[in-house]
Amino acid sequence: MILVIAEHNNNNLKSFTLNTIEASSQISGDIDVLVAGNNFDNVLKEIASIPKVKKILSFKSEEYENQLPEDLTNLIMSVVDKYDYIIAPATAFGKNLMPRVAALLDVTQISDVIKILGKDQYIRPIYAGNALATIKNNDSKKIITIRPTSFEPSLNTGGNAPIENLSIKSDNKLSIFIKKEESKSDRPELGTARIVVSGGRGLQSAENFKLISELADKLNAAVGASRAAVDAGYVGNDYQVGQTGKVVVPELYIAIGISGAIQHLAGMKESKIIVAINKDEEAPIFNISDYGLKGDLFEILPELISELGKLNIIQK
Ligand code: FAD
Repeated sequence: MILVIAEHNNNNLKSFTLNTIEASSQISGDIDVLVAGNNFDNVLKEIASIPKVKKILSFKSEEYENQLPEDLTNLIMSVVDKYDYIIAPATAFGKNLMPRVAALLDVTQISDVIKILGKDQYIRPIYAGNALATIKNNDSKKIITIRPTSFEPSLNTGGNAPIENLSIKSDNKLSIFIKKEESKSDRPELGTARIVVSGGRGLQSAENFKLISELADKLNAAVGASRAAVDAGYVGNDYQVGQTGKVVVPELYIAIGISGAIQHLAGMKESKIIVAINKDEEAPIFNISDYGLKGDLFEILPELISELGKLNIIQK
């Protein structure tokens, strides 16, 4: 039996949960989904309509509004006996939660799985994506995180999964929620956007980085950044793409003023089409780009933005 942990914000199910369910279905068809939070009726409806879900375990509590990983771990441990697999997306949510569960069960966590070979064999990237490891896991309970962009989303219409309400005493109190600061943006979400425009150290300042946002707006794209750009304070760290940032697989990835360090490539090299703009023709980013534009970004970007402004781009 598989238990998938739903990622959601109490209003909507995060789409990566669908990819996680699809990946899980390659292990077994017996999939339950655990969802915990507060006032999340819409999320319950969304999960119930996924045909591959057998049952929903629901836990509603004001104390779970912010889904602190310590509390969620408590909840998972209360039902863990029934399950052979606990699976979550390899997002900040899953990465924060699953090691706690694995530690309490004293089993190995299998992280960032990109391919399911069988019930106990998986492929995952190692060394910043430079090698792929095939793992055979003999633990009786398998704690797995799935790289969502490596799997299609599961169909989410036509299902009718029953809901079982859980009741546990939520007396964990290992941590308390104080506040959340979320960056708000009208742009597509970085992790799921069809087009990503990313800027690096070559932008030189936060002010100049606005050129990246301007270009992104013309293309209805998400904005990304290299770690050097984040460390220099041009943008917040939720924009970071790479080994220690987000992994993105858009249809189009435009890397501007980014050299192409392996840690950056680990987060974007599976993009369908990669375009690089860089003044250094030796920059490694050109080795993996489908289209390379050698030149000064401060000349190229204003021209590109102005030309795109003349087109009537139909946003899908
Ligand atoms: P640089 O390497 O300095 O490249 C800047 C580029 O801009 C150069 O190629 C230059 O030619 C070009 N340029 C400069 N001026 C112009 C101009 N006017 N016009 C056109 N081009 C111009 N990095 C990540 O991105 N993501 C990660 O998740 C990540 N994780 C890491 C984890 C670890 C453990 C470590 C050790 C490093 C990690 N890094 C990560 C850092 C990574 O090694 C690089 O340092 C970083 O990616 C470099 O960012 P950059 O390409 O913007 O900067």
